[in-house]
Amino acid sequence: MQTRKVALIGNPNVGKSTVFNALTGLHQHTGNWPGKTVENAYGECHYKDTLLTIYDLPGTYSLISHSYEEKVASDFICFEQYDVAIVVCDAVCLERSLNLVLQTMEILPNVVVCVNLMDEAEKKRIHIDLDKLSNLLKVPVIGTSARSNEGLDRLLEEVISCQNHSYYSISYPLYLENIISVLTTKLPDMSYNSRWVSLKLLEGDQIFDSLPVLNKEELQPFLNYPRKVFQMDDVVATLLQESKNISKEVIKYESKDYESKMRKWDRILTRKATGIPIMLLLLFGILWITIRFSNIPSSMLFDLFHFLEIKLVSIFKILSIPSWLTSLLVEGVYRTLTWVVSVMLPPMAIFFPLFTLLEDLGVLPRIAFNLDYPFEKCKACGKQSLTMCMGLGCNAVGVMGARIIDSKRERLLAILTNVFMPCNGRFPAIISMISMFMISISSSVLSSLISAFVLTCVILLGIFMTFLISFLLSKTILKGYPSSFTLELPPYRKPQIGKVIVRSIFDRTLFVLGRAILVAAPAGFLIWILANVMIGESSLITILARYLNPFGMMIGLDGMILLAFLLGFPANEIVLPILMLGYLSLGSMTEMNDLVLMKNVLVSHGWTFLTALNFILLCLFHFPCSTTILTIKKETNSWKWAMFAFILPTCIGIILCFCTHFLSFLF
Ligand code: GDP
Repeated sequence: MQTRKVALIGNPNVGKSTVFNALTGLHQHTGNWPGKTVENAYGECHYKDTLLTIYDLPGTYSLISHSYEEKVASDFICFEQYDVAIVVCDAVCLERSLNLVLQTMEILPNVVVCVNLMDEAEKKRIHIDLDKLSNLLKVPVIGTSARSNEGLDRLLEEVISCQNHSYYSISYPLYLENIISVLTTKLPDMSYNSRWVSLKLLEGDQIFDSLPVLNKEELQPFLNYPRKVFQMDDVVATLLQESKNISKEVIKYESKDYESKMRKWDRILTRKATGIPIMLLLLFGILWITIRFSNIPSSMLFDLFHFLEIKLVSIFKILSIPSWLTSLLVEGVYRTLTWVVSVMLPPMAIFFPLFTLLEDLGVLPRIAFNLDYPFEKCKACGKQSLTMCMGLGCNAVGVMGARIIDSKRERLLAILTNVFMPCNGRFPAIISMISMFMISISSSVLSSLISAFVLTCVILLGIFMTFLISFLLSKTILKGYPSSFTLELPPYRKPQIGKVIVRSIFDRTLFVLGRAILVAAPAGFLIWILANVMIGESSLITILARYLNPFGMMIGLDGMILLAFLLGFPANEIVLPILMLGYLSLGSMTEMNDLVLMKNVLVSHGWTFLTALNFILLCLFHFPCSTTILTIKKETNSWKWAMFAFILPTCIGIILCFCTHFLSFLF
């Protein structure tokens, strides 16, 4: 059987992952924002008698500048051995895609152009003459609609029969052409296009430093050419002009409706006066829907797990398992596990699809656009707002998402401040506090609206703290200037509801839930031991809480609350159950989904409105969970930063709680 290695290249958001998934049957997460594919993914595909190994490279706009994604893509293009490169283009904005096509064709002789999203272009009455494009570029050009698998067979056909073409030659300004032609004569024989290597050398790219074939001394005089900076501008300008010329020849707009409609929406969503209120309304809406509709499935799950628990205990009895072991396994491990699932699953199953919907519609990049200015003022990167959005679901995902930020300094800022976005694991505890102490407990629509409003304010406080801490860190230990970045505003796209649901359930909900379950089981084990090992009259948990009490009281809380947060390190969602367990001096967690009962227990332990407020503050500002800390260690490759990420929010939380406690004495 013949084999072929294929690289999939393209701008972000042109449907590369969709093409990749359709060809390989793998399921990469696809979404409507730049920077999802930051590592190379690969998969296999059989076509006729050929086995194709397809590499999905990170989306990149150009091979000239060096953002992290662009570097991964250009390193792969330059140094990996493969047979064919497919450059995926967006039929709706072909001109932008052509820039990358031309650059790739300057480097590689084996290119197939895939013009994707042909269905969208047709809807917008944009006609593209693919044959003419193929004639102009002198490579095969195939139109596809990857989402509905159209044109992919023809694409594969071209890929397996693709021969080497000549490199695409762009006519640069005369002075550049002169330098290139002299430089090419000085270059040794290489498998690269010598015109392109010359350009790379003029650009000052160190990409070839490791290649011994270059006689650097002989080349040096050319590389110190005085107009070095301008040369690159000229290269970019020439490329853009060439893309424009080709587009003019092959694209026909039948109507300008689409352009003007899109601009109108952009004007509304990205103008400060309208964009920010719309963003807040969207946040409020998502939170309200999550709060309003997650109670019922939550209590259904509680009932189901309770029923199963009874069955489980009777099975243990039949098997004559000792009662202490039954208690450990059922009341310790099983209850903690099922608590996490019942509390976490329903809000996640509602929140994530809604969030993915916004992502698919193309709203998230507009949010990043709106927040770019304040981030720049804090000397951070606008893309940080995208990682904050991810953190709203799960901080570990947000920390990992910071890979889309190129500058190390700005990536660290995003990682260290991500925990200020309350993740899904913290929502339920915050919402319970709001319901018990800030509004009258009832399940009316009004009370869920007020809950959502207060929760929105809590998140806004988190956003404010993100700005403040980013600013302070940039002025102190992470000094530097904000880097510039191109944020593409992708076209608005109608999301596929079915896919959104499947993807958000499998990629996100189950992924996050799976991780929470992994830590909940050992946590349940430990908590059971602490609650059941007695020293004298008191359990270990009570003794530990007693030690922490003086400090807890000083910041308007108590020892048991602090201990619950400490024991909740593996997963935030078990903080509240541990608190109940401690207060009621029980040997196991109780299923207390009745808020009235829970409030009575808390009030009998001296809780007031202020305690609830401080609990919310500490919930928002305390150390990240163990999974997030491990992710931070992995992403920064340093225990020092992981420790810092632990200490920073905890100190902020303690200071804020102390301040509110202190102020309560004054007023
Ligand atoms: P990537 O960033 O280039 O990997 O792009 P994705 O594969 O993530 O796709 C971005 C968005 O475009 C997703 O919402 C896809 O569902 C959508 N998409 C991809 N291909 C097509 C297509 O052929 N037609 C339409 N209408 N949408 C598509």
